[in-house]
Amino acid sequence: MKVLVIGSGGREHAIAWKIAKSPLVERVFVAPGNGGTYMEEKCENVDLKGIYDYVKFAKEKLVDVTVVGPEAPLVEGIVDEFKKQGLKIFGPSKEAARLEGSKIYAKEFMKRHGVRTAEYEVFYDIEGAVEYIKKCRYPCVIKADGLAQGKGVVICSSFAEAEDTLKKFMVEDVFKGSGKRIVIEEFLEGVEASILSITDGKTIIPFISAKDHKRIFDGDKGPNTGGMGVIAPNPYVTDEVLEDFKKNIMLPTLNGIKEEGLDYHGIIFFGIMITKKGVYLLEYNVRMGDPETQALLPLMKSDFFELILRAIDGKLEGCKVDWEKGYSCNVVAASKGYPGDIEKGFKVNIGDVENKIFIAGAEFKDGNLITTGGRVLSVTAVADNLDKARQKAYGDLKRIYFEGMQYRKDI
Ligand code: ATP
Repeated sequence: MKVLVIGSGGREHAIAWKIAKSPLVERVFVAPGNGGTYMEEKCENVDLKGIYDYVKFAKEKLVDVTVVGPEAPLVEGIVDEFKKQGLKIFGPSKEAARLEGSKIYAKEFMKRHGVRTAEYEVFYDIEGAVEYIKKCRYPCVIKADGLAQGKGVVICSSFAEAEDTLKKFMVEDVFKGSGKRIVIEEFLEGVEASILSITDGKTIIPFISAKDHKRIFDGDKGPNTGGMGVIAPNPYVTDEVLEDFKKNIMLPTLNGIKEEGLDYHGIIFFGIMITKKGVYLLEYNVRMGDPETQALLPLMKSDFFELILRAIDGKLEGCKVDWEKGYSCNVVAASKGYPGDIEKGFKVNIGDVENKIFIAGAEFKDGNLITTGGRVLSVTAVADNLDKARQKAYGDLKRIYFEGMQYRKDI
């Protein structure tokens, strides 16, 4: 079969690499792809932009299945458009993608269906929000309703900070519409975990858990990034935590999808907080995580493409996802300056590495791999214990070099 993967990051390199391993797949087009997908067996980068380009290409090249990496096209309604044209695609409909695209929609969905989450209030104007922050408990969490590239959540420890955030979001409109409406949420204390799952709207199968590392510097210091590394499974997700998650978050979510008749054949990524009072849902993402995907797919024994087909065709019932017994450790190497202004255009030297390298912000130019983005690449090592997986990943990072390369030493 022919597959089209949409996206250009490390996540899409991992998705394309794993799909290409399936005996069912003869060719994987990646739009636009990167220097990693360019090198991958069975894969070919294609220069396309926008939903109509993708539809046209899928029809012309007789693409059998399209898999969407990032959230933006899903929130824009790519799935509805493909289906209208009779094309097969993996992902939620525009309506269902609001679970990520609108924090208000997501919180109200959670409330309607008894999904355990932090207490919250919704505000459409600054006057009401300011009245509320005069008497709320601190810290409080202010969230822009719409997509804000991971910058739309601020934990405020005082009235002054909360007022300042409200002004930025609602008056200065720094997120161009996304922060005009907001959620103010109770602050939860605990440890975070990511649990991805696959669903066909009737059955849901959780993947093994993962632990992201969001801050740029060791010891979780410095500004937030897209993610600097992941270990999987997450050591904090015990059997007890998993049972709590299934009962109070995952199954009520699936029931909500069924009851509301949402068209959902894709990935649900649950961002959870493990607290002393139990597991709480922080957010839904309607696609795979980056770099969670790079840590999870090398551990997956099952044929990922077959699972995708089953999810699209509504045939996940009775299906099992098999995993390697061990652990994986993924460490991201980023450009100097990331997550702020970066320096790019440097040659990437990859020596004699032992583990899988996923390329993100780098492309091929005249036979060399050249940096083009903030997160340049990541290494995923798999071993029977976490220490070994870490040692293997860091061993490879010593064999890779580009000017200004930075990575966390404590993943
Ligand atoms: P992402 O960049 O992961 O897509 P996002 O902008 O969609 O993030 P959330 O995941 O909801 O927003 O929140 C971002 C981060 O803020 C969380 O990973 C968590 O660390 C913190 N956070 C969110 N809600 C709460 C809360 N109620 N209590 C404590 N921390 C929170």
